[in-house]
Amino acid sequence: MGSDFFDELGETLTRTAKEIGERADSFFEVQKLRNKISTEQRMVNKRKMDIGTLIFQRYLQGEALDDEVAALCEEISCHKKTVFEYQEEIAKMRGERICPCCGASVDKEAAYCPKCGTPCAPQENKGKAEDEAAEVADYEWEEETEEETEEITEEESEEKDGENQKEQKEEE
Ligand SMILES: [Zn+2]
Repeated sequence: MGSDFFDELGETLTRTAKEIGERADSFFEVQKLRNKISTEQRMVNKRKMDIGTLIFQRYLQGEALDDEVAALCEEISCHKKTVFEYQEEIAKMRGERICPCCGASVDKEAAYCPKCGTPCAPQENKGKAEDEAAEVADYEWEEETEEETEEITEEESEEKDGENQKEQKEEE
């Protein structure tokens, strides 16, 4: 074996190391570009959301929109209404109401929303005695839920407790 062999071997090793290095470089380059793509994609999605918000606002302001867009806005309205109903249900269980304007929780006794000042008429579909009983029940229930964990099963069983209290109230 002459020195040629070692020269060649050395050359091959150098070339291999260089190739690995180049591959690593291009790997990081690709990764960098992928991150950039993600950033751009996020911006596209964000702006799409902005467009949706803008159009939905225009729909609420009564602006004439084409049928396809109007139908989508109507669907959003339905879902928002359902959300409001669920929020109201929760608030009712806690002796509160939901502000129809801003969606904040308002104490049952308060005449105005503390957040936006919208007048919130007290609910008058219940008798006074019944109302007081409900307050006590709500208060007790609220205390129980103070240490509430985020576990769904517990929440569900507590929701059932709330239902039971409601049923009892209706029986009285
Ligand atoms: Zn409000």
